[in-house]
Amino acid sequence: MSNLNSAFDWIESSRDDMTQFMLEMLKIKAVNPDGGGKGEYDRAMFVKKRLEDAGFHVGQYDIPDARVAEGARVNLTAVLEGEDRGRTLWLAAHLDTVPEGSRDLWATDPYVPVVREGKIFGRGAEDNGQAVCSILFALKALKTSGAKPKMNLGVVYVSDEESGSTYGVIPLLEKGVFKPTDMALVPDSGSPDGSLIEIAEKSILWLKITTRGKQVHGSTPEKGLNARRAAMKFAIQLDDMLHARYPDRDALFDPPSSTFEPTKSDANVDNVNTVPGLDVQYFDCRILPQYHLDEVMKQIDSVRARVEKETGAAIQVDPLQHEENTKTTSMQSPIVQKLKTALKELRGLEAKPIGIGGGTVGNYFRRKGLDTAVWSTLDDTAHQPNEYCKIKNMVDDAKIFACVAAA
Ligand SMILES: [Zn+2]
Repeated sequence: MSNLNSAFDWIESSRDDMTQFMLEMLKIKAVNPDGGGKGEYDRAMFVKKRLEDAGFHVGQYDIPDARVAEGARVNLTAVLEGEDRGRTLWLAAHLDTVPEGSRDLWATDPYVPVVREGKIFGRGAEDNGQAVCSILFALKALKTSGAKPKMNLGVVYVSDEESGSTYGVIPLLEKGVFKPTDMALVPDSGSPDGSLIEIAEKSILWLKITTRGKQVHGSTPEKGLNARRAAMKFAIQLDDMLHARYPDRDALFDPPSSTFEPTKSDANVDNVNTVPGLDVQYFDCRILPQYHLDEVMKQIDSVRARVEKETGAAIQVDPLQHEENTKTTSMQSPIVQKLKTALKELRGLEAKPIGIGGGTVGNYFRRKGLDTAVWSTLDDTAHQPNEYCKIKNMVDDAKIFACVAAA
């Protein structure tokens, strides 16, 4: 325990180093390539250097991706040996970010991070920079203080979390980097006081809906077939059907019901006086675990067939993400219990279980059989303008990770 106390002291004394680490890292833009970005590789190399400087051997897993200049997406691991060397507790964070969105909504440059009133502002500060930093310093603290973790303590930095993990945690799981008997802690969702432990996630279904009609002049619509109108009819009927057919509520989740949201629309014609012959729109659906996605897709298809018949347009529905999450981590599992105990001891908190609609890499760990808790302390500014992380949360979460590893 005295070693653990010196680990806490080391973390506390590293507050400025942690802040500096964040300011340097957030300058390295790492927008996911699916969001038109680059730089994830450079950010990975920055983190790798810090791990090596701290004396860790770093595992590097390059997953080929022809779209990026480096030809591959990088994933990193580093492990501190524990008393039990047969199992590993993994602390997982992702390197990529979403784009900044509309710049007008930012008070400061999203890629020139600044500190104001104890907060670090910048794209990726909270999602997932805070975790990248706090798991690194938790690992370093245990190594420096000589507090041996109960089982191996691993950190894993993954790419591509913001767009399906195809180049991130999924191939790592396929390569056998993690064992089903390992456990994982994913600091990628949380609450302002840290009292919520996420143990379940909704299934995620993203739909791309392509509607084809016939493009004509705006003054003679009878000669064509308005794809926009058919697409709107489909969207309304789909929205109504999904809400009517899948109404269940589960109090574990926040929000408690499934969500079905029409989101993006692709630009169609350039001018007002043309009837569009093509329309592309999208739905983002987050579905409670009791519903199976194959059944949902069947119902969607019957609406599609009906609206095609009504309108004469051709409608195609492609799932861009189809992630069924039926596995929940037990509240009694060691990882959740260790975390609960740490929160009680360090913060006097009675932590509560929760399910969320946002997907994290926790879902993939759970599918592989790893007990996984998703937890951190944050104000939930992810994907928003003026995203920030509180320095205090970053430091205090690192202590919780050290405590969980030593317990
Ligand atoms: Zn995230």
